[in-house]
Amino acid sequence: MIELRIKQTVRDVTDFPKPGIIFKDITPILKDAGLCREITAALQEQVKEMKIDLIAGIESRGFLFGMSLANLMGIPFVPMRKSGKLPYKTVRQEYDLEYGSAALELHEDAIFAGQRVLIHDDLLATGGTVVAASKLIEKLGGEIAGYSFIIALDFLKGRERLKGFSAPVYSLASY
Ligand code: 5GP
Repeated sequence: MIELRIKQTVRDVTDFPKPGIIFKDITPILKDAGLCREITAALQEQVKEMKIDLIAGIESRGFLFGMSLANLMGIPFVPMRKSGKLPYKTVRQEYDLEYGSAALELHEDAIFAGQRVLIHDDLLATGGTVVAASKLIEKLGGEIAGYSFIIALDFLKGRERLKGFSAPVYSLASY
């Protein structure tokens, strides 16, 4: 079962990026080519009945499987990046972190009004990042078709923060 394979492969790193946090390190997954293929196929299986025009991946781990999934589905991939990284004209969405704030940006021609977008990231924690990503998509007139994560930390209640966007939330492994 894919959930068990993911949980057996992900590495827990204590006190990263700061004391008290147990970080789910997905890099061991990337070393297992067979598991990467299975994850991409499982992500596709979850959304196969949905009409999706493109996948928007969140920097940086959302690029890894977001691009594989887009490639498998034969649809475009667009990157949502941290402040100042994208070269062309961008739209921008600020969001709060525990200490301070951050911003995500998207090229202004990445999405056309009315396009149906699947937002992908490796992991859903508090949901702050993906809420900002959702607002960016909406700024360009895109419709959020759904959310796709490899891992959801359900105890941090990220799904609840996404309720306002009324789109399905999928993950392959939950804690
Ligand atoms: P949130 O905004 O939902 O609190 O945090 C999710 C974002 O932070 C995602 O972009 C995700 O990549 C990153 N993140 C937070 N905690 C973890 C973790 O334990 N493991 C990984 N791989 N990413 C994390």
